[in-house]
Amino acid sequence: MATPCVILFVLDGLRRDAVTPSTTPFLQSRCEQGVSFEGLRSVFPSSTRVCAATVATGSHPGEHGITENEMLVEHRGQRDIVSCADASYLSRLPRHATGTILEKPTFGQRLAAEKKRFLSACSGSSGTTYLTNPAGMGACVNWETAWPEEVRAEIANSVGFPTHGSSTDAKNGFILDVATQAFEQTQAPDVCLLWFTEPDEAQHTYGIGSPSAVDQLRLLDQRIEAFHAWLLVRFPRRSFVFVAFSDHGCVTPLGEVDPISELIAAGLKSSTDSQDVLFVSNSFFLADDALVSPLSRFLANADWVDRVFVRDDVWRDELPVSRLSDARCNHPRAAQIMVSYSTCSDPSDYGVPGACRITGNRSSHGSMSDYEMNVPLFAWGTDIRTPARKHVSADLTDIAPAVLALLGIGADSPGRLPLRSLLRTD
Ligand SMILES: [Zn+2]
Repeated sequence: MATPCVILFVLDGLRRDAVTPSTTPFLQSRCEQGVSFEGLRSVFPSSTRVCAATVATGSHPGEHGITENEMLVEHRGQRDIVSCADASYLSRLPRHATGTILEKPTFGQRLAAEKKRFLSACSGSSGTTYLTNPAGMGACVNWETAWPEEVRAEIANSVGFPTHGSSTDAKNGFILDVATQAFEQTQAPDVCLLWFTEPDEAQHTYGIGSPSAVDQLRLLDQRIEAFHAWLLVRFPRRSFVFVAFSDHGCVTPLGEVDPISELIAAGLKSSTDSQDVLFVSNSFFLADDALVSPLSRFLANADWVDRVFVRDDVWRDELPVSRLSDARCNHPRAAQIMVSYSTCSDPSDYGVPGACRITGNRSSHGSMSDYEMNVPLFAWGTDIRTPARKHVSADLTDIAPAVLALLGIGADSPGRLPLRSLLRTD
């Protein structure tokens, strides 16, 4: 059996119930004719940049060090929240012994050590892209930039980068054009990680199950089908394994609760822009650890919060909440307090169940509800026994070891995703 080329398709924010014969006929057919895994889970917090670093390293947020879509920075006594969507910020963070800003080696680095070629390309934010391959192993391509510099120049001169005004569909097309071009090179990639920003972007803007979100997903399904067909025709004798999954699901924010207003009303934050408690996504960054006890107790009693986690170094026995290590997210960079929001089965305006009470745009994720944590995973390819339906007890950390095992790397610890065992041995 030849070592396969592995193509990973990540459809950002895709819920399993969004894969249907009418919207995603190609993915649906792969689900029916390939291997459909049930039971794959995201990680906490189920946020894109956190998931990108998790997929890249095969480790949990508490281990790789990206614990939120945002980070706290302190400069000249001023505390501020910055978004990890910005690669130029991320790239200036201190390097660890791994040589990157992540504390665990990436599977791009593992592949490079084995002389395997890697391409990661992403139509989302530059930060998400950077986190998939911060060492720039092979090529790391975003719709507006790429690493290393020679790759950026080559793409600018060949495929050409989309503009800020380009549609997300055009950006998704660009990612596939880059992959197509990579396969036309003399040394084609052994592993491609192709991370598409839809349906997440349309869900955030227009709502879960909205016509716009469904349209974006339909277009993406068509693009993936066309790329898949091209590969099989262009390289009829090459062995491919295709894996499609998402980083997280989503719920509809009902907009009933603004956490900042709740904290101010409870006397736990002095004003909207005060520095005592900085709130973002699932995190509460406190200026003074003395606030940990009253704030975590308040959140533990709030009906809009499901679970409360306190960073291990400031956790105390008497607190009625869990340690952040219980969520595999404990890290010095994490907020002192993180929460998972309560969810209910209320439908979106378009009939898709799953909602939380907090404010936000038309879609939210980051918490531990099944709507956000359960993610689809399909695999198919020339050497995969078909069809099959497998229940696995695995999460996003298992993707990297499973891919490495497919290539015969780290076969002694193939992880909990039995991709390798699905390959024909005859
Ligand atoms: Zn995402």
